[in-house]
Amino acid sequence: MDNAFDADVIVAGAGMSGATLALALASGGLKPVLVDPQPFAAQAAPSFDGRASAIAFASFRQWNTVGAGAALAPHAQRIEQILVTDGASPGAASPGQTPFFLRFDSAEIADRCDGEPLGYMLENRRIRAALAEAVTQARIEVFAPARVERVEVDARGAAVGLADGRTLRAPLVVGAEGRTSPVRQAAGIGVIGWDYPQTGVVATVKLERPHEGVAHEYFLPGGPFAILPLTENRASLVWTEKTDRGAALRTAKPEVFQAHLRRRFGPFLGAVEVVGPTFTYPLSLQLAERMAAERIAVLGDAAHGIHPMAGQGLNLGLKDAAALAQVLVEAARLGEDIGSLAVLERYARWRRFDNVMLAASTDIFTRLFSNDDPLLRLARGAGMAAVNRIGPARRFFMQEAGGAVGDLPRLLRGEAL
Ligand SMILES: Cc1cc2nc3c(=O)[nH]c(=O)nc-3n(C[C@H](O)[C@H](O)[C@H](O)COP(=O)(O)OP(=O)(O)OC[C@H]3O[C@@H](n4cnc5c(N)ncnc54)[C@H](O)[C@@H]3O)c2cc1C
Repeated sequence: MDNAFDADVIVAGAGMSGATLALALASGGLKPVLVDPQPFAAQAAPSFDGRASAIAFASFRQWNTVGAGAALAPHAQRIEQILVTDGASPGAASPGQTPFFLRFDSAEIADRCDGEPLGYMLENRRIRAALAEAVTQARIEVFAPARVERVEVDARGAAVGLADGRTLRAPLVVGAEGRTSPVRQAAGIGVIGWDYPQTGVVATVKLERPHEGVAHEYFLPGGPFAILPLTENRASLVWTEKTDRGAALRTAKPEVFQAHLRRRFGPFLGAVEVVGPTFTYPLSLQLAERMAAERIAVLGDAAHGIHPMAGQGLNLGLKDAAALAQVLVEAARLGEDIGSLAVLERYARWRRFDNVMLAASTDIFTRLFSNDDPLLRLARGAGMAAVNRIGPARRFFMQEAGGAVGDLPRLLRGEAL
């Protein structure tokens, strides 16, 4: 590294995508630094992020390879089956109630993925804590609390101005600071997208009946409703409400929230007890027009924010991290300038198609399924039934959900850089 530089790569944002990128870069011999306005230790507090994420098995391989897997393993709930139902009300998946029922089973792809499940459910606070621990172990320097405010680039490098007046220099700056991304704005990269008239509601519940590793996704007229298995026989519930009802739930007392849950979903869940805080999130689609500019790259939600219906937002960010780290480590080994547009375009070309396709298909699905039009209901039911009957189609969807299709970066195959 040039002495004039503080690091090879300045990563703005120590969230799950940014921290994973830093670990991947360090595993390949580069020197990253992380910058985040949140105190680093605070990220692991239960109240910081009450969500849980469905993590594709390929994404989990990357964490194993960069040193975060062992700390995550005790908290990772294997997803053995996914049941998808187009229902008028929850419980419609009960046997005999609907012909439109998709079933994915990890046993069907066991030979191709070494017995790995379809994915894992992990609470975000556990992911953040494990990544923070691995970052400390890897001796990656973290500037936190510190906020990136300005980025200036010239032919030699990039200068990042922090809110406290300090300046950091490196050949490359990566924006991993979520949807508002000041790095993306500094690069003049515009965004396209729109808000959904929906709010995502998230609650963790303790279940009466054993979940047996089964994830349920119901497409209800108001929007999708997911019941995602967690360790200790808990589940993460994620559903969408119209914006005004979402706003009311945001401020509701715990007992009012629990009563709403019972009314909305009836006896189908069995006796459930809400454990821990509940959260509401505005939902929107946002895609950056480009993923790279001279000395600047963006990844994760800074590059693409999608509807949580498919549970793929973070997985896309983790794929970005794996691809960008591989491109940069290989370029550095060849003696190339890692901040040059020629190098960064390799990353952008690799990831652009996957990100745009997933954002577009999630958007289409959201519109198609958050709807009670009888014709649409018939069409999507026929589609589901077809996929369910055709074994190869079903296996393709399972591989896709597992993040194991296409031109996979080495880290997602479980190989070191
Ligand atoms: C309800 C819901 C459920 C979801 N479920 C799933 C799921 O099951 N599976 C899945 O894959 N995805 C899921 N997602 C999407 C997933 O949560 C996001 O894609 C993911 O959190 C994005 O991570 P990120 O690191 O890119 O950005 P963020 O999590 O937004 O992190 C950005 C980081 O940058 C920091 N930052 C902000 N401003 C600055 C600045 N100026 N300078 C430096 N740092 C800054 C922030 O403090 C933060 O730490 C869900 C989303 C929602 C809303």
